[in-house]
Amino acid sequence: MPARPIVPFIEGDGIGPDIWRATRRVLDGAVEKVYSGRRAFAWFEVLAGEKAKDLTGEWLPADTLAAIRAYRVAIKGPLTTPVGGGIRSLNVALRQALDLYACVRPVRYYPGTPSPVRRPEAVDMVIFRENTEDVYAGIEWPAGSSEARRLIDFLATLGKPVRADSGIGIKPISETGSKRLVRAALHYAIANRRRSLTLVHKGNIMKFTEGAFRDWGYEVARQEFGEQTIAEHDLAAGGAAAAGAASKDGAGKIVISDRIADSMFQQVLLRPEEYEVIATTNLNGDYLSDALAAQIGGLGMAPGSNEGDGLAVFEATHGTAPKYAGLDKVNPGSLLLSGVMMLRWLGWGEAADAVERGLAATIAQKRVTYDLERQMQGATLLRTSELASAVLENL
Ligand code: NAP
Repeated sequence: MPARPIVPFIEGDGIGPDIWRATRRVLDGAVEKVYSGRRAFAWFEVLAGEKAKDLTGEWLPADTLAAIRAYRVAIKGPLTTPVGGGIRSLNVALRQALDLYACVRPVRYYPGTPSPVRRPEAVDMVIFRENTEDVYAGIEWPAGSSEARRLIDFLATLGKPVRADSGIGIKPISETGSKRLVRAALHYAIANRRRSLTLVHKGNIMKFTEGAFRDWGYEVARQEFGEQTIAEHDLAAGGAAAAGAASKDGAGKIVISDRIADSMFQQVLLRPEEYEVIATTNLNGDYLSDALAAQIGGLGMAPGSNEGDGLAVFEATHGTAPKYAGLDKVNPGSLLLSGVMMLRWLGWGEAADAVERGLAATIAQKRVTYDLERQMQGATLLRTSELASAVLENL
């Protein structure tokens, strides 16, 4: 890692410029404070979304993709989804073009943040959600279309009757896609000394997609990480622990377990301390990430990244909230914490710790933006830019 890495940024649409300005000030301030000028970001603006459309006529210019490929890291604000523009979603297009196959969402609680649950501090998980397959690669035809009718006829020849007026959807889940996702989650778990990894799936119903994801997950752990991992069922069989032992120590090894998706939603509410790293398919991960974000104070505090092999794009997890654009009002927490993830990814952990400390102290002082202030007693309302200043004071 060079001392002055070139980092492309996409400021984003709607509230994007507001939260990016705040984030950039805090990241630069933290790096300056921690490394005293020995390290610094060399920011490089690249275009996507409405700004790109206005300046270049394209929503996602090829130059932007080329820059991210060349510099291997980028940070982005939210982007408008063009309506009727021929692109389903810019975010999905970016992930697919760069093969960013793991959507990584850490969820941890900062004390003082309003939460709908009684023990939000028990939540400290990182979700690895598969980012290229399942419903993201979903193929669909509407009921009554000639394609749907042909597929229904074909399925009948395989002895699988389908009601004639059905829409048809196909969701592919591959061994390659599943294994590389679980592999990335295991590398993370090892590097960060996490004690358990849970495979979340709906394999009781869909055996050859969801169930296969689970089987391939266990296989990667056994074949490639046999020294560092142990399956929960092997632990239980050895009498070392009872069922539900996902967080119990498997003699220093990472305990690999699996849970059916519906049961997992109960588990993360009732026994959150038992789960640390989650690896899951696209749709399950979509639901689970937002549900967990709600437990720790909402999307305004939930960061995320999209990662491939040696390539990562860090982003706010919420949208462009157009009604608040340019008002210096919204919470920059999601993009700021994505910046914290980026600092760690770059190996600048000391600066990441400083930003986290600064944000935690600011929330503990009850100095927050409108979204949190309206749910707290006796809080001081800050603008986006004022929150950035407060975090800098508290670094
Ligand atoms: P949204 O932009 O996420 O906003 C929905 C609501 O969430 C806001 O009205 C606000 O709630 C709250 N919110 C969002 N960001 C916040 C922040 N930083 N601080 C405080 N509160 C925040 O969702 P949307 O209105 O459905 O989508 C708007 C556009 O964004 C669409 O074009 C959509 O496609 C796009 N989008 C982009 C991404 C992305 O780039 N990753 C993700 C999702 C959506 P209150 O009004 O209740 O305060």
